[in-house]
Amino acid sequence: MNIILLGPPGAGKGTQAKRLEERYGIAQISTGDMLRGEVAAGSAIGRKAKAIMEAGELVPDEIIIAMLSARIARPDCTSGFILDGFPRTVPQAEALDVMLGEHGLTLSAVIELKVDDAALIERIAGRFTCAACGAGYHDVFKPPKTPGRCDVCGGTAFTRRADDNRETVTARLAAYHRQTAPILPYYAAQGRLHSVDGMAGIEAVTAAVEGVLDRLEVGVTEK
Ligand code: AMP
Repeated sequence: MNIILLGPPGAGKGTQAKRLEERYGIAQISTGDMLRGEVAAGSAIGRKAKAIMEAGELVPDEIIIAMLSARIARPDCTSGFILDGFPRTVPQAEALDVMLGEHGLTLSAVIELKVDDAALIERIAGRFTCAACGAGYHDVFKPPKTPGRCDVCGGTAFTRRADDNRETVTARLAAYHRQTAPILPYYAAQGRLHSVDGMAGIEAVTAAVEGVLDRLEVGVTEK
C-alpha cells in the first residue's frame, strides 16, 4: 500500500503518518525529517537546504526528487510507504509517477487533510517533540501527562523545530497555497484524491483516514 498524505504544514500529516505506519506496517517517509537530518549532519544537501527551510520556502525539486528516489528503493519500503511532505509541487508529483513506474509500483490513495489556515498557526506554534524518542506534543492540545516528562520513554529533554515560529509558518503556508495546492487537481484527475476533515481530533482523523483506506480494500493485512 503506497499512500500520500497531503495538507498544509500543521495539518497533522506527521501524526497520522506515524499511526498508519503502526497499523499497516508500512514505512513513513517524511522529506522534512530527512532534510532536518541532512542539516543536522552538515551534509552538502543540508548546507544547501538550511537557509531555504528557515525562510519557509521549498527546497529545489531536483534535490528532493533524488533524495526520495533513493529512499523508496530501500528494503523497508517493500510492503509500502506513506509519503508525508512529498510531493509538494506538480513536477515532484510527475516525477513520483515516473519513479513508481520504474519500481513497478502504483499509488493506492492520496489523502488530503483539510484544515483552516487560522488554526494552523496556533497548532504549529505550540508543537514540540521528545528529543530522545521523537514523540510529538503540543503545549495546549497534547501536553505530556506529567509535565516535562515524555509519556512514551520518560525522557525529559524536548525540542522545537527552528521553522515552527509564526513568521516562518506564514511563509510555509503561502508556499503551500502557491506551490502545493495545485497538486490536488492533479490527483483528482487521476481519481485518487480523498479528502478528510483535518480539524477533527487526532483519533477521529485517524478513523476517517483508515475508513478511506479500508473502503479501498488496499490490503489491510498487517495491524
Ligand atoms: P515539513 O517537515 O514537511 O514541514 O518540511 C519542512 C521544510 O522542509 C519545508 O518548509 C521545506 O523547506 C522543506 N521540504 C520538505 N519537504 C519538501 C519537498 N517535498 N519539497 C521541497 N521542500 C521540502
